[in-house]
Amino acid sequence: MKVITIAIDGHSSCGKSTMAKDLAKEIGYIYIDTGAMYRAVTLFAMQNGLITDAGIDEDALRNRMPDILITFQLNEETGRPDTYLNGVCVEREIRTMEVSKYVSPIATLGFVREAMVELQRLMGEAKGVIMDGRDIGTVVFPNAELKIFVTASADVRAKRRFDELTAKGESCNFDEILTNVVERDRIDSTRAISPLRKAEDAIVLDNSNMTIPEQKAWLLEQYYRVAAE
Ligand code: C5P
Repeated sequence: MKVITIAIDGHSSCGKSTMAKDLAKEIGYIYIDTGAMYRAVTLFAMQNGLITDAGIDEDALRNRMPDILITFQLNEETGRPDTYLNGVCVEREIRTMEVSKYVSPIATLGFVREAMVELQRLMGEAKGVIMDGRDIGTVVFPNAELKIFVTASADVRAKRRFDELTAKGESCNFDEILTNVVERDRIDSTRAISPLRKAEDAIVLDNSNMTIPEQKAWLLEQYYRVAAE
């Protein structure tokens, strides 16, 4: 089997990370959640008073970028990597609605993207990685051997997100989640730098009517097809 790079991009909350994590575990690849990295930068900005009602203090955030250290550590219990911000596990904090509200505006900033892309390329240098995000197949790893573009209807995605947050015991509102999902897609797709779009050579997966095991089987098949070539 060839050791390859797998890029999974697509719309918000369409289960990219679930499929990517499961495949990584199955084939022994490293999984990198790039959305978690933009979420960690957002959390840092929130914790340091760089996001207020007046908006994002871009100059202050640019100056503080060297103070942001993002790492991943395997959680033995879940078998999945947790996100750490400056040595502190923030896996739960970065998934809140508050962070979801500000992450897309933060991800439009050129200096934030530059820093994250540099880190992502380093993390994926040795191949054998599955990276999910919005610009992996187009910008971060344009030569990835396998590129998938995942989508699903906005209602289905909001429902999945609602179930996920509810299961974690977070109080949430379906309409607020739906608005957030649609708004993030709008910002991600229309931003000037690295907008969300399907790479020309990506395979589209609409998983609106698929179960998680079905998606898993489909992705594994794509992997074997490419890695065995
Ligand atoms: O994947 P997730 O929904 O956690 O990503 C959160 C946000 O981070 C996205 O809505 C997008 O604004 C940003 N993002 C990005 N580029 C990536 C990954 C995520 O701009 N590669």
